[in-house]
Amino acid sequence: MADCIFCKIVAGEISAQVVYEDDQFLAFEDINGQAPTHTLVIPKRHIDRLTDLQEEDASLVGKWLLVGNQVARQTGIAASGYRLVVNCNADGGQTVFHIHLHVLGGRAMRWPPG
Ligand code: AMP
Ligand code: ZN
Repeated sequence: MADCIFCKIVAGEISAQVVYEDDQFLAFEDINGQAPTHTLVIPKRHIDRLTDLQEEDASLVGKWLLVGNQVARQTGIAASGYRLVVNCNADGGQTVFHIHLHVLGGRAMRWPPG
């Protein structure tokens, strides 16, 4: 999608520190990390927001979570613990409208989140 920063990363038009890639997903370091390890996992296909997911995306969503787990293992935070977050729309704090899974770790997380 034109003007989507994450589609531009998928297309190689904007650089990113890639930590995982397969045919459907790309994972790269967040540019403004909120934890010692902060990776974003995106489907390569553009989807604006969580509420746009359809029944036929169930398999994609399942794999998305599994890639989140894989990234946690790869970045060394699986055993100590990590948090997976998806922000949706304004009150959810979404700022980039191409769905992404935050994989955060390397420190103790607080609850409730801000
Ligand atoms: P959200 O607020 O959930 O939409 O998260 C968007 C995330 O994308 C933020 O944590 C940003 O720091 C991150 N971000 C924005 N632009 C880039 C970029 N070019 N490369 C990596 N991360 C980015
Ligand atoms: Zn996009």
